Order: sequence, then structure tokens, then C-alpha cells
Amino acid sequence: MYDFTLTRPATVAEAIAALQGEDAQPIAGGQTLLPTMKARLAQADTLVSLTGIAEMKGISSDGTTLTLGGGATHAAVAREAAQAYPALASLAARIGDPAVRTRGTVGGSLANNDPSACYPAGALASGATITATGPSGSREIAADDYFQGLFTTALEEDEIVTSVAFPIPETAAYEKMIQPASRFPLVAAFVAKFPAGVRVAITGASADGVFRWTEAEEALTANFTPDALKTLTPPTHDMISDLHGSQDYRRHLCKVMTTRAVKAAG
Ligand SMILES: Cc1cc2nc3c(=O)[nH]c(=O)nc-3n(C[C@H](O)[C@H](O)[C@H](O)COP(=O)(O)OP(=O)(O)OC[C@H]3O[C@@H](n4cnc5c(N)ncnc54)[C@H](O)[C@@H]3O)c2cc1C
Repeated sequence: MYDFTLTRPATVAEAIAALQGEDAQPIAGGQTLLPTMKARLAQADTLVSLTGIAEMKGISSDGTTLTLGGGATHAAVAREAAQAYPALASLAARIGDPAVRTRGTVGGSLANNDPSACYPAGALASGATITATGPSGSREIAADDYFQGLFTTALEEDEIVTSVAFPIPETAAYEKMIQPASRFPLVAAFVAKFPAGVRVAITGASADGVFRWTEAEEALTANFTPDALKTLTPPTHDMISDLHGSQDYRRHLCKVMTTRAVKAAG
């Protein structure tokens, strides 16, 4: 690992100020960043730790919206959001292993936007709003605008994800085909049914990252049953092909996991 300096701000304002330094980068749970640094694939002069910022750890619900601090860990979401939004808590409970869930955070996952990550599917299917805070203040970004391709988001370099607001659907489910070596999804589908319609987000499948399967959304909005998907052709969306699964297998899984999610959501 290359040398770096670690700073530990106690507030968002202090973190934003620290990130103004040359070659400074936030670190949250370190579950993605530290292995990358150990492999010398990433380097920062200063790491700005977000783990000591209490104002980024809140988890609250008013019955219609679940709001997670960007620094909330997967384990805390699994525990504390189970009543308010069971499908999202279940997603968090199945990320990686206990060590990853204890350290990894919502903000780190959404900022990283790994094409196989779980939270991007939950955020996109829920129509979540991401709050990004930078030197000129905070702004809200709709999930539909936030995810911009492989490891790419609408975040500016000096912005951090401070909170995420998830509208709570009538019913929802996340179905994940686990890639056993990493515990990431090979393909996973998050289905969320709102009064205005159904949203379906797929992760793990596309080289462009998480995407909405709009044909499934239309079919399920008209008829929220697994049968509604039977005649649909699985999405294409530049499918990933690697040693874990071919493009055709991943396309097939998109439909299988969406169907399972609809069944689970009831
Ligand atoms: C063995 C293993 C299994 C895993 N399995 C899964 C899985 O099944 N599903 C899944 O979704 N993920 C999985 N992960 C990834 C895990 O969820 C990580 O926690 C997550 O990707 C990154 O979160 P973090 O808080 O650790 O971020 P870090 O590693 O600290 O940071 C990741 C990136 O985000 C930036 N960053 C961090 N926080 C913020 C913020 N608030 N605002 C802006 N930028 C920020 C950092 O600068 C860095 O670029 C796994 C990881 C491991 C090691």
C-alpha cells in the first residue's frame, strides 16, 4: 500500500473541508477501497474517514419514506429498517458476510456503484433520492439520474453521499443469485410496487451497471403476478460475460430473479 495520511473529522462540514486538500478521498467502511489500495490500484495522499460522523449514521422512517444516513452500515440497516422497509433491510442483511456488513456503508456502496452491488438495485427500484453534500452545500439527485454506468455516478469529485431517502412501497422483494466466491450477486432483481406503478431494477447483469427493466415494469403494473412476465423476452443491456456466467445465462437469470421477486413480494 502507498503511504497516506488519515484524518478523522467529526462533522460533515469538517469532512468537506478536509476533502478540499490535494489528492484527498473519503473512506467509509473501507471494504472496497482498502483492498484496492492494498493491490496498489488506488492511491490517495489523504484519506478522510467518514466513520466518526454521527450526523451521517441516522436511520429513520415517517411511514412513507425511509431515510438512511450515508454512513449507516449494512448491519445497522438490516437491524433497524426491518420494520419500516423489510425488503431493503433484507437486501442489507444479505450483503457479503458479517465483517463486510459491520463496516460497509450505504454511502460507500452507492458512491462506488459496482455493477454487481446490491444497494444500487434497491435505490433505483425504490425511486430513491440521494443527497450529495459538497463545498457549495447539499443537492438532491433522483436515483434515475444518479447511476450513470460502470462505477460512474452523478456525484462530483468533492461531494459525499450524506443521506438517501427511500419511498416505501406497498410491497417489494429483492432476489439475489449469489456468486459464492464473492457473495456479490451474479444477477439480482429488486421489485417494488407503488400506487403509481411497479419499478424493477436489475444488478449484476449489465456492464453498464444497474438498470430498470421497463418492459417488466409495464407488464407488472398491469398485472402484478409472475404470469405477467411469462411471455417477456429477457433484457439485453450489454450483458456481462465472465467465468461465472455467460451473457445468455445472465439474461436468463434477469427473468428468473424478477419472477422470484414478484412471487416473494406477493
Ligand atoms: C467479501 C466482500 C463481499 C461483498 N459482498 C457484497 C454484496 O454481496 N453486495 C454488495 O452490494 N456489496 C458487497 N460488498 C461491498 C460492500 O458492500 C462495501 O461495503 C461497499 O461496496 C463499499 O462500502 P464502504 O463503506 O466499505 O466504502 P469504502 O470502501 O470506504 O469506499 C468505497 C468508495 O466510495 C467512496 N465513498 C465511501 N463513502 C462515501 C460517501 N459517503 N460519499 C462519497 N463517496 C464515498 C470512497 O472514496 C471509495 O471510492 C462486498 C465486499 C467484500 C469485501
